[in-house]
Amino acid sequence: DLGDALRASSLRLARIGRVQSVIEESPGTRDILARYIAGDTTQSALGAARDLMETGRAVTVSYLGPDADSRASSDATVEEYRRLVAEAVSRGLVGDHCLELSVRPAAFGRLDQATGRSLALAQLQRVCRTAHNAGLDVTLDMEGFETVEPTLRLLEELRQDFPRVGVALQAALLRTEQDCRELAAEGVRVRLVKGAHKLDERGSFDAVEDVDRSYVRCLRILMEGVGYPMVATHDPRMTSIAAALARSCGKGPEDFEYQMYLGIRPLEQTAIADRGDRMRVYVAYGPAWYSYLVRRVAERPTNVTFFVRSLLSR
Ligand code: FAD
Repeated sequence: DLGDALRASSLRLARIGRVQSVIEESPGTRDILARYIAGDTTQSALGAARDLMETGRAVTVSYLGPDADSRASSDATVEEYRRLVAEAVSRGLVGDHCLELSVRPAAFGRLDQATGRSLALAQLQRVCRTAHNAGLDVTLDMEGFETVEPTLRLLEELRQDFPRVGVALQAALLRTEQDCRELAAEGVRVRLVKGAHKLDERGSFDAVEDVDRSYVRCLRILMEGVGYPMVATHDPRMTSIAAALARSCGKGPEDFEYQMYLGIRPLEQTAIADRGDRMRVYVAYGPAWYSYLVRRVAERPTNVTFFVRSLLSR
């Protein structure tokens, strides 16, 4: 009943809170996590972007600002993206789709309230306009289960004026195969990820193998569709399946791309770029980066293994 559900979710939240404080108090964690983040400022993010572009990689830049709890914080996020675009243009970092913006809808308005959703839409339209005028694409990040529906509604509205706006879809969710089917038919730029957020018992695969199988099914749908698949994974099995599917579906290097995080499997990143495929690196920056990453790591045990693995495999 409702009482049990509330108790279970508050226990889960308490557990997440405990894991979060253990991570925050562990010496050296900040230094370790810092290698995956481009720093706090617009300048540091664009510095990292320039270095990546010099080795043939494309970049998507994400500003890790706070969730929008007021009009003022939402405005500040819009202003940051405008500054980022203006600075990128003046440094000559745009053109031929080498730079893209990733945005977290929750940083523009509260997605659980109608007024927050309208604010998010209006603000994202401002960011998309600025990006469009500079020749940059925009992709919506996907967060927890309850943000999926509002994010897809935002996508639909934004695409009326800006048809190239893309979205991340999470293979960990049961609904994603159907979402892929719909968006592939509409020709949307879809970033397929396994999913970094808390699982939801109403709608997630639990076992890692089931998430992997779902990822492959979704990949096939996207590759067979008329959209632009963005294969965001560090999993070598998934990247080789993507390459094989792209070949059999007749998708060339212009028709899809691979994406990975800054600092993860850098040799594989340059190898993909060197063979002529588009490799885009996700560069996150901003004052709130540490608490953002700690929250993600605390939320799902697989996120801990993810960072440990990358330290061991360098
Ligand atoms: P995993 O399932 O973690 O690992 C599978 C295999 O990949 C491993 O066995 C290993 O061989 C290899 N591997 C994995 N990680 C490493 C590593 N660190 N070092 C070396 N080898 C490794 N999630 C969201 O929920 N929403 C988003 O909007 C979103 N955007 C993303 C954007 C990009 C560009 C990327 C790369 C990820 C994004 N994610 C997002 C995160 C994603 O959901 C996964 O949590 C994350 O990518 C880990 O899953 P994986 O597919 O890389 O591989």
